[in-house]
Amino acid sequence: SAIELARPDLLRDRCLINGEWVGADSGLTLAVTDPATGAQVGNVPYMGRAETERAILAADAALPAWRARTARDRAAVLRRWNDLILQHQRDLAMLMTREQGKPLPEAQGEVAYAASFIEWFAEEAKRVDGEVLQGQRAGQHIVVLKQPIGVCAAITPWNFPAAMITRKVGPALAAGCTMVVKPAELTPLTALALGVLAIEAGIPAGVLQFVTGDAAAIGQALCESDIVRKLSFTGSTHVGRLLMSQCAPTIKKLSLELGGNAPLIVFDDADVDRAVEGIIASKFRNAGQTCVCANRIYVQAGIHDRLVERLVAAVGAMRVGNGLEPGVTQGPLINDKAVDKVRQHIDDALSLGAKVAVGGTPNPLGGTFFTPTVLTGVTQAMRVAQEETFGPMAPLFRFETEEEAVALANDTEFGLAAYIFTEDRRRIWRVSEGLETGMVGVNTGLISNEVAPFGGVKQSGLGREGSRHGIEEYLEPKYVCMQD
Ligand code: ADP
Repeated sequence: SAIELARPDLLRDRCLINGEWVGADSGLTLAVTDPATGAQVGNVPYMGRAETERAILAADAALPAWRARTARDRAAVLRRWNDLILQHQRDLAMLMTREQGKPLPEAQGEVAYAASFIEWFAEEAKRVDGEVLQGQRAGQHIVVLKQPIGVCAAITPWNFPAAMITRKVGPALAAGCTMVVKPAELTPLTALALGVLAIEAGIPAGVLQFVTGDAAAIGQALCESDIVRKLSFTGSTHVGRLLMSQCAPTIKKLSLELGGNAPLIVFDDADVDRAVEGIIASKFRNAGQTCVCANRIYVQAGIHDRLVERLVAAVGAMRVGNGLEPGVTQGPLINDKAVDKVRQHIDDALSLGAKVAVGGTPNPLGGTFFTPTVLTGVTQAMRVAQEETFGPMAPLFRFETEEEAVALANDTEFGLAAYIFTEDRRRIWRVSEGLETGMVGVNTGLISNEVAPFGGVKQSGLGREGSRHGIEEYLEPKYVCMQD
């Protein structure tokens, strides 16, 4: 079960605090396992409050010097980190596939995607502009400065072990903030490898730390700290709500990227092949384990049967297996709990009248492998209409009118992504404007990139990541009123 790396030192069993690789005070560790085989692939320190507090102090001590460097200088350091990440793309992808399960080509894609945030925010660092406003009386000059918020914290999930980190660290460091990152306990190895490359790129001691271990204890220390001025979290709505409440006493700034329940609407006038391609891309990427995965697929009556036929053929042809094997497009799910959730959503739907169009049976590979599944006859009364499945199951709902589809799509407390497939340009505008989500994909199932503002409305979160808006989340305006 050894991980074959060109740079074996990228596999770490220590955390990064104040530029040093350290274990937990207790000496305890946390095992990291390969979801495809169950084999242990590494272990990381099981840290708690004390180590987190030291990491926060180190970030605070590093802040003045980092903030004082020119944007151009910080950009150069980030640029070097980007280059090193790309240079070690394969090693990082290997670590990722082993601890997370996604197919190796998908992992390589994520590494490039992760690096793109570092590159983008290295560029944006140089474009943090203030404002000069009109004075209200003679001799008055109004200037708005943009300053880094200060010490920031990030808590990230296991489904994108690299990209969810870089899209927080990139803008934070570019803005002149320092950061403490708590990666997901299921996928800390990719994170620590990024830390090795960060040091190599010249990111100074204390500017970026990684702390692994007891999520609740680390989270509490980060939320309760007076020094930490901002928390950026990606994960479940449930934990997001808890963190938000824990941050209330110190009035911390928050960015929250929480659960989704993405509708994908296929209208009668859609190109059926593009719709199938979009459904596959959106629903089955990362075995359905992304927060922007289509969770409810609404299909208009006139195209329904044609779409089902082609979708079933495409889903039936997917290859499930260990992500290291060539040709595999569906890796294992992250753990047994994830499998149970998909199973429950299928059982619930079937008990209320849905039908299996393809899949639905246990996968012969066992473990946490799951056969990609399509259900038809799904309705709003079923659990999948209200909750994220986070697995490779596509539920198809049939609808008659556009108004009905938009109302059904908006019938959820979530509002992250939505997708529509139609060739009618008026409908594209109407429906895009009518959907209560932060993002809409039109005739595409892939919408995430560093250029665009990623984020949700309603209970899917606060703030945006990526794009020129992403760096604003780490800046505070300061208004200076000058009188001659
Ligand atoms: P998921 O259900 O997808 O694993 P979570 O919200 O549980 O999503 O996990 C996302 C991140 O939140 C992970 O890094 C996890 O360790 C962290 N986390 C979970 N519980 C807490 C908590 N009580 N305090 C702080 N972080 C937490």
